[in-house]
Parts: sequence; C-alpha cells; structure tokens
Amino acid sequence: MEAIKEVFLATVIGIAFCITTGFYIESRPILMKLTGYCPCKECCGDYANGKTSIGRDAWKTYGVAADPELLPYGTRLNIPGVGIRIVDDTGGAMRQSAKEGIWHIDIRFHSHEKAEEFGDREEYVRIL
Ligand SMILES: [Zn+2]
Repeated sequence: MEAIKEVFLATVIGIAFCITTGFYIESRPILMKLTGYCPCKECCGDYANGKTSIGRDAWKTYGVAADPELLPYGTRLNIPGVGIRIVDDTGGAMRQSAKEGIWHIDIRFHSHEKAEEFGDREEYVRIL
C-alpha cells in the first residue's frame, strides 16, 4: 500500500512539474525582430489585395505577419509598446528570417507613414 502511495505521489509531482515547466516555456519572452508594414502595394507588392493570408481585412484589423511554422496563425503575442496582437498574416521576409534562426514579426499598421515610423527594432515578445 505504501509503495502505491509513493508511486501516486511521484506521478502527481511529475505532472505538476511538467505543467509548470510547460507554462514557463510558453510564457518565456523571446527576443524578436520587429518591423512595421501596412497593406499598401509598396509594403505588400503589386498583388496586394487588402486581405491577410488568412482572409482578414488587412485595413480594418490589427495583426502581425510571421512565419506560421514558427508562430502558427492565431497565436497571440504581447508586444512591448504595441499591445496584444494576433498572428494573421505572413511574408517572405519573415520566412527568410526564420531560416536564419531569427524570430521576425511584421506589425500591421493602417497607414504607410505609421509603418515606416515604427521602423526596425528588437523587443522581448511574450507568446500568450
Ligand atoms: Zn505600406
């Protein structure tokens, strides 16, 4: 009976440890390269159609573009100085960065000026 109790306790502790560690890994901030874009042709090319790659209205919604293999669509990010944004778009630059081991997110603005103003920076981003 004592042995069963011990096994039970070890299992409970093991599960609690896994959950805590998993939570820690998930909420660990990651240093990311941040850039800004808007849905215009200059930012998104001649085929820009005002929709994100998952079909959201790029001019009316806020989101970020990322490599979906690194950050799947729907992932929520807490970006310092920006707020909470959802991954809803992608782009060649982000997929190229991912190949180089760089976490790169492109934050969508609704005006080209604001996107340019945002520039290029590095921040610790938390995955929610
Ligand atoms: Zn633009």
